[in-house]
Amino acid sequence: MASSTVTLEKTTTISSGGVDVPSSPTTMRTRLLKKKGRKGGEKGRCCGHKYELVGYEALPEFLKHNEFVLDYYRSEWPIKQALLSIFSVHNDTINVWTHLIGFFVFLALTVCAATMVPMEYEASSSPHIAIFTTSAMANNTGPVNQLMVLIDGRRAVMAMHSYSLRNASMEPALTMTSSPPVVPHHHRRVARWPFYAYLCGAMFCLLMSSLCHLLACHSEHASYVLLRLDYAGITGLIVTSFYPLVYYTFLCDPFHRSLYLGFITASGAAAVAVSLLPVFEAPRLRWARAGLFACMGLSGLVPILHKMLVFGARPEAVITTGYEMAMGACYLAGVVVYATRVPERWMPGRFDIAGHSHQLFHVLVIAGAYAHYLAGLVYLSWRDMEGCSS
Ligand SMILES: [Zn+2]
Repeated sequence: MASSTVTLEKTTTISSGGVDVPSSPTTMRTRLLKKKGRKGGEKGRCCGHKYELVGYEALPEFLKHNEFVLDYYRSEWPIKQALLSIFSVHNDTINVWTHLIGFFVFLALTVCAATMVPMEYEASSSPHIAIFTTSAMANNTGPVNQLMVLIDGRRAVMAMHSYSLRNASMEPALTMTSSPPVVPHHHRRVARWPFYAYLCGAMFCLLMSSLCHLLACHSEHASYVLLRLDYAGITGLIVTSFYPLVYYTFLCDPFHRSLYLGFITASGAAAVAVSLLPVFEAPRLRWARAGLFACMGLSGLVPILHKMLVFGARPEAVITTGYEMAMGACYLAGVVVYATRVPERWMPGRFDIAGHSHQLFHVLVIAGAYAHYLAGLVYLSWRDMEGCSS
């Protein structure tokens, strides 16, 4: 079959500092090759057209974010081609997919939690509860594997967590105690909204980030709006990360619960307001952005230290703090990578497609968010078992 090739040229005027320069426009040729009867994996090719990827120097100012990523940019592509570029290779492909996959992972975790963790209210009377423990738990001398099975006649729920107490070896044998129920206050379980608010915050952040990386190349206006949604997503993730920590830790201390929840929510609202300023996305303010989000995250150390002062002897407090430290380490490493732009600053152009700092930052965000999800499960288990008795 004969292949036909139509070559079009699109001239784009590059703005300099927000002002068009009509007298000496820097022109960029974007060839639109329409090819039929030919298959191939040429870069940027989609839906029968080929929108050529361009280098950093050819970008308009609003797309210049990282001078160490030299090539494979999409520049001012139509929205349809930008959407379809999710299936082609460019320097944002991995950024889009890391957080899109992360979004679906958290969606699956939310569905798992909604179907497997008991509801806040039970329609039936008190659930039949069977607690399996290792024999070591009974005398509190060894590692504890606790498998809790809650059966209410309609669903069986298993929540398992394993942790160590002191330093004895693992006891493989399970013993079973089925009555009386161990939950002292099971008329109503602890509120679920802080846990699900966190899951929604994580999903919103991951989805907005993915969308931003996919579509911000379309136009300056799209870039402005999507970057604000991206910043709002990061803020939402940080704010909602506080909710399970503060709500369940200070379940029986309304003053500190309201104080911490109010502080982080107000901080988040202020961060979103500041991020609306156009100057907020300026490349030179990279450290200011990183610093703002890092300070919000680091303020979480206050309720965590408070938790350890009050509940430091309890295994649930130690486990959740461990997860929170893991989350903090991931986020801080992510912030440092994001702001320093390592490794691409060492070898500009070498990591354009894979391995640049923003991709590492995305993976670290997902790892941190997952650690916090595990902490949330322990908080629920702790407060369901004890209510306000501790
Ligand atoms: Zn990103």
